[in-house]
Amino acid sequence: MSNDDIITPKAIADDVLFDDQIRPQKMDDFPGQEAIKEKLTIAIQAAKQRQEPLDHLLLSGPPGLGKTTLARIIANEMKVDIKQSAGPVIERQADLSAILTSLDDFDVLFVDEIHRLNHAVEETLYSAMEDFEVDIMLGKGPTARSMKIGLRPFTLIGATTRAGLLTPPLRARFGDTCRFNLYTPEELECIVNRSARILNVPIQPDGTLEIASRSRGTARIANRLLRRVRDYAQVKGDGVITLEIAEAALKLLRIDHLGLDDMDRMILETLINKFGGGPVGSSSLAVAVGEERQTLEEVHEPYLIQIGFIKRTPQGRVATQHAFRHIGKPPPSGKNQTQLL
Ligand code: ADP
Repeated sequence: MSNDDIITPKAIADDVLFDDQIRPQKMDDFPGQEAIKEKLTIAIQAAKQRQEPLDHLLLSGPPGLGKTTLARIIANEMKVDIKQSAGPVIERQADLSAILTSLDDFDVLFVDEIHRLNHAVEETLYSAMEDFEVDIMLGKGPTARSMKIGLRPFTLIGATTRAGLLTPPLRARFGDTCRFNLYTPEELECIVNRSARILNVPIQPDGTLEIASRSRGTARIANRLLRRVRDYAQVKGDGVITLEIAEAALKLLRIDHLGLDDMDRMILETLINKFGGGPVGSSSLAVAVGEERQTLEEVHEPYLIQIGFIKRTPQGRVATQHAFRHIGKPPPSGKNQTQLL
């Protein structure tokens, strides 16, 4: 799967339609992330019993693991409305005040990429989160004055792929943090089976397993691969997703048996062939593969680290012996060997 497949307007429109059909709506409908669900189920029940809003919550983890989905589920279970925005979209304090003053009792405000809020907006958020009030400016120029406005008690759910970039004062205002883990193949099997059921796609267990094990631990990728394999099954087979159909479709998509795509392979090959296996800084590596550093760090690295192909060290990224073997090169012997797993 190339990035082009992901970002064309048609791909995005298709995704939205597909997402609406299969997005889990309830906690029981959401496979995986068991520890997070258990903790939240208790917190939701307690908040409902006390007739209070849920504490502000920070959801962190790589993209496509279900942070947005879980925020919507929380609002559903609390039986309140959810308003959705994103750090880079809220440019001015007035934009944030407008959103905050439109919230009703216990509503959820979901802010994606919350680490990308600008400083002035972030400061406005502090008093909103802590005291449920905001300062708004009335008038302009020398006659302008600020006025405090009370807000309805609400819950802020912030999502971030980079928890480390949150400023300490913002982080301190969240009652709890939930760190999302990459899904296990078994959890991804549940996700693929559930989506196939909803979409009425016949799928055999070994077809499910094949898609799940190549989904890089990510729910969004599992669903996306299911959709591509479904197309292939329809055109080249009789509509049923078998192991053979899944293998052939994924080969066509150039996704290998570990779920690595062309960009993952290019990252490994560059790290090994150009930088001798590292250590190399992520900026240099990103330039060498022609990718944004952020995409490299947030989309590609988590999985490559999880499967033990890359190590993050204080000196930079290092390829492990598994990575050398995967691209068909012998790991270096001698001094460098000590850096490798
Ligand atoms: P994030 O906000 O972490 O980037 P999303 O909540 O937008 O991720 O989820 C991406 C896609 O994956 C959506 O289509 C969503 O329905 C699906 N998804 C995420 N988590 C799960 C899950 N646990 N079970 C089923 N589908 C999921």
